Amino acid sequence: MKDFKRMLYGGDYNPNQWPREIWDEDMRIFRLADINSATVNVFSWAKIQPGEDEYDFAELDEIMEMLKKENYDIVLATSTAALPAWMVRRYPEVARVDYEGLRHKFGQRHNACPNSPVFQKFSRRMAQKLAERYGDHPNLACWHISNEYGGECYCENCEKAFRVWVKKKYGTIDAVNKAWNMHFWGHTLYDFDDIVAPNALSDGIGYEKTAFAGISIDYRRFMSDSMLENFKAERDAVREFDKETPVTTNLMGSYKGLDYFKWAKEMDIVSWDNYPAYDTPWSSTAMHHDLMRGLKDKPFMLMEQTPSQQNWQRYNSLKRPGQMRAQSWQTVAHGADTIQFFQLRRSVGACEKFHGAVIEHSGTENTRVFREVAELGHELKALGDTLLGAKNSAKVGIIFDWDNYWGLEYAVGPSADLKYVPQLQQYYAYFYERNIPVDMIPVDADFTKYSAVVAPVLYMVKDGMQEALENYVNQGGILLTGFMSGLVDQSDNVHLGGYPGPLRKLCGIWAEEIDALAPEQTNVLKFTDGTDAACSLLCDIIHLEGAESLANYGSDFYKDTPAVTKNAFGTGKVYYVGTKPDAVGLRKILDMLCADADIKPLVGEETKLEIACREKDGKRYWFVLNLTGKPQPMIGAFADKTDILKGRTLKAGEMLENWDTLLYVE
Ligand SMILES: [Zn+2]
Repeated sequence: MKDFKRMLYGGDYNPNQWPREIWDEDMRIFRLADINSATVNVFSWAKIQPGEDEYDFAELDEIMEMLKKENYDIVLATSTAALPAWMVRRYPEVARVDYEGLRHKFGQRHNACPNSPVFQKFSRRMAQKLAERYGDHPNLACWHISNEYGGECYCENCEKAFRVWVKKKYGTIDAVNKAWNMHFWGHTLYDFDDIVAPNALSDGIGYEKTAFAGISIDYRRFMSDSMLENFKAERDAVREFDKETPVTTNLMGSYKGLDYFKWAKEMDIVSWDNYPAYDTPWSSTAMHHDLMRGLKDKPFMLMEQTPSQQNWQRYNSLKRPGQMRAQSWQTVAHGADTIQFFQLRRSVGACEKFHGAVIEHSGTENTRVFREVAELGHELKALGDTLLGAKNSAKVGIIFDWDNYWGLEYAVGPSADLKYVPQLQQYYAYFYERNIPVDMIPVDADFTKYSAVVAPVLYMVKDGMQEALENYVNQGGILLTGFMSGLVDQSDNVHLGGYPGPLRKLCGIWAEEIDALAPEQTNVLKFTDGTDAACSLLCDIIHLEGAESLANYGSDFYKDTPAVTKNAFGTGKVYYVGTKPDAVGLRKILDMLCADADIKPLVGEETKLEIACREKDGKRYWFVLNLTGKPQPMIGAFADKTDILKGRTLKAGEMLENWDTLLYVE
């Protein structure tokens, strides 16, 4: 497989939406920013295949030739993320049927039914044609299949394919009835043909909930698999002509619809699109980078970010001067080997005309945004291939699992406020704020690599999971889990015999009941050392079965009963957090966990600066970022050292301005 030779710096580029005379001007302007890469052909299907048997690559040839002359690393998309009008007109089955059961017409993007044989045929053929034509292009650096796979379809083709998928998984209809608990509400299925897609016309309850989570979770698995088959079909078509160039598709962080751990196994390199909102905490952005790195436990591509402004959020604030640079370096700090923008020239019309770009509507290089893009471009160019492939390492693993995400959020009760990602985010933020590196890991990770494994809301404990966790803790691992954990199996049926089911022995507790607190209600966590903290959301009512209580509830009928516990198991320890602690409570618990697991921050001093480290060829690259919104003092660890980005040397206590970013090598 070909490796990148330098950090790709560029982004989505759509010259085919512009007159020819603009192109040369684009090239001139991009040169000023040391842009070295372009992602092309993302939404060009209608242009390069204007009819069923008509292909026209003349314009794309010209674009590829122009980029070759400029010595660009080209990311070539297969264009199949938006259906051409002729295809929908002639074959209405290629359009999706939505959750409400409506067949869509021509329009939008990410709009193809993944199980339409017509779509499958044409998309595969397109990937084949592109690979045949450009597979040996000297500037081709990466294949970009489709774009931001997502959404779902409930059409008849999907329903039929779902029946096949279900039959393959379960074998008999009796097994299906058992797995989905179909004798409830008299849903007994007599035949595979009784199975219908779980949307608003059947078992869906609004879009978020479902009467039968077993069906709905399986439908999500099936939809994720269906689109993955689309991806694989195009990838394999590319591979017929090009065995060397890495293949990716751009993912979307913790996007709910697709099981990215499963997808990543089929991708050569992970890439993703990072669009934090104006109020997204930096710890959340960092967690998403770590998740994307965790998918393959390897560096990733930042396929998209805006240089300035988004358009699709509610309030699309400008990135403040210096923010884009700092955000980009944070991305690199967490494992990115590319920095790419959406997009290089701003659209003249349609819904993305207010989405920022490297060249704004003024059409010149004389903008704040461009100057900042150029500044970063010069810095990346100076670094060359220095950081490519550099490794991040962590002693803390936080489990992220799409089955759990789906199962937890489909659960009808005990609280409508229970969301998967924020629960993990809360734990991640503790480590982030202390500069303790974290890996986001799958349920089948090698836990023994980690001093501590943190698994909040491990709702679904699938086959093999209990043994894996018990082995890990037995050998000295430190595990944290808590409320809404160990409750169901992979089909969303409850593990009978008392919560937290298969984790009960490990945790040394029995959670008899789960109380739900309304937003205006809280309880108190009374730690054994006299510290009080608040807790909310859910309160497990816990009996000790070998564990010790670290904190008891302070009020209500379960006052003085355990809320947070610790159990010795083998040579390891298991923390169980039976409620949602506030920051004080969480800090207390995780401080104890870090002490038990001998986990220390990257630097000894207290600081609000973000510190991250990547290693390569025996060298360590230290990123020091100020993302706090106000000046922060330099810490002793990097005082009097020279930063390799701008050659700055700061004394201990000297102030770093907001957005300042320094990079040290040792
Ligand atoms: Zn469909």
